[in-house]
Amino acid sequence: MERYSVITEKNRREIVLLRAFPCAWGKCTFCDYIEDNGRDEEEMVRQNREVLSRVTGEYGVLEAINSGSCFELPRATLEDIREIVDEKKIDRLIFESHWIYRKRLDEMREFFGIPVTYKIGVETFDYDFREKVLNKHADFRRPEEVAALFDSICLMVGIEGQTKDMIRNDISAMKKYFKHGTVNVFNNNSTPIRRDEELVRWFMEEYRWLLDDPDVEVLYEITDFGVG
Ligand code: SF4
Repeated sequence: MERYSVITEKNRREIVLLRAFPCAWGKCTFCDYIEDNGRDEEEMVRQNREVLSRVTGEYGVLEAINSGSCFELPRATLEDIREIVDEKKIDRLIFESHWIYRKRLDEMREFFGIPVTYKIGVETFDYDFREKVLNKHADFRRPEEVAALFDSICLMVGIEGQTKDMIRNDISAMKKYFKHGTVNVFNNNSTPIRRDEELVRWFMEEYRWLLDDPDVEVLYEITDFGVG
């Protein structure tokens, strides 16, 4: 598994995939990457330290992801990141957080003392699809509620049961309310959720222009950021 990468195209940055305690929610129906979660704190901290030692600070921006939210990273790893931020003159961090931690976002900003851009896995703004099919446990109703707290969203497209209208609505909300977005094209994994090939083909054609949008990253493969 690759845990360090440098993104040299849109939004230049270094990215690390760290290990953390189990995702506090852990029940999204499409997710099997929580298998990377662990409970052996010492081992996770050691592994994370190794990955973090590769950070050079070349773009001044570091994105740290884990299979869950940044609030599930071991404390010692957060301290290691803080040391690297200082040493390598990193001036912005990018973290992921689930909706359940929305009231804690400033904790990380205070801890690191630099701007933190938060990404949230919205998956879709269609409430029923998000909550009943994907079981995301993120009970917002309108994009404005999310935009009041998060700078960047992740959408998921190409799942059976999703419609073109849902996707149109999601992309237009992303462009209207958020500075930055990531669109993940769903790939079949070990969960029962299935990819809708026809919908993916339609999306890739209809939204080809997103590939040239500097504020949107489209991940056709889950490993497109070079980690995973
Ligand atoms: S919140 Fe994220 S990591 Fe946790 S189960 Fe859902 S998709 Fe997986």
